Amino acid sequence: MAPPGIKGRFVLFALLVIALFLFVRLEGYRAPSGQLSPIQQAKAGTSNKVSSGPSLTGHAIAPKLGNATVKAELGRAAWKVLHTTFARFPEKPTPDEKEALRSYVHLFQRLYPCGECAEHFGKVLAKYPPQVSSRTAAAMWGCMVHNIVNKRLHKPEFNCEDIGDAYDCGCGDEDTKDTGRSEGVDV
Ligand SMILES: Cc1cc2nc3c(=O)[nH]c(=O)nc-3n(C[C@H](O)[C@H](O)[C@H](O)COP(=O)(O)OP(=O)(O)OC[C@H]3O[C@@H](n4cnc5c(N)ncnc54)[C@H](O)[C@@H]3O)c2cc1C
Repeated sequence: MAPPGIKGRFVLFALLVIALFLFVRLEGYRAPSGQLSPIQQAKAGTSNKVSSGPSLTGHAIAPKLGNATVKAELGRAAWKVLHTTFARFPEKPTPDEKEALRSYVHLFQRLYPCGECAEHFGKVLAKYPPQVSSRTAAAMWGCMVHNIVNKRLHKPEFNCEDIGDAYDCGCGDEDTKDTGRSEGVDV
């Protein structure tokens, strides 16, 4: 076969350039960053991965919650969750568990749905950081900060010596061998 002339070489070169251009465009289209849906990202384990973790302290995120009835209902439910969390925290937590509780309380504050409550509670946390060394320490701390909020709202002080009885859920699963830590959860 005769070698291509100048015109032939030019056509070949142009075809190569077009092929290269199409290849680059298609590759870019197939795997663009940030184009996966949230569900696809979650399945791929790439959703919102941040190396340093969320910021535990900072401004309260929710807007002001004007409705007093909603605010009170929310408060009762939230305190119940918090005090019960402390009551079921390990008496001898691992460093990881301590860090988990500390982070939880700070994020609970930042994201609390009543913005003005969160703002005030943030100041309480700044003055009295969460106590996470043991269940007892956490429960007593929870009672103390709830009393600070009570005082601000002109509500009666709670006797923190009664905290153990008040939030004993009666779950009957105090055996540490039978905690959620050992349970495998399928999704
Ligand atoms: C973090 C946080 C911040 C809040 N900030 C505000 C705010 O700024 N402004 C506002 O209007 N509302 C705020 N609230 C809501 C408020 O604290 C009350 O939940 C709400 O007013 C309803 O009050 P309550 O009288 O029904 O009892 P709650 O204070 O909700 O208490 C529920 C129950 O917990 C028990 N209890 C009371 N004190 C203690 C304690 N010290 N330790 C353990 N148990 C106790 C009692 O049995 C009581 O009935 C906040 C709630 C939370 C969780």
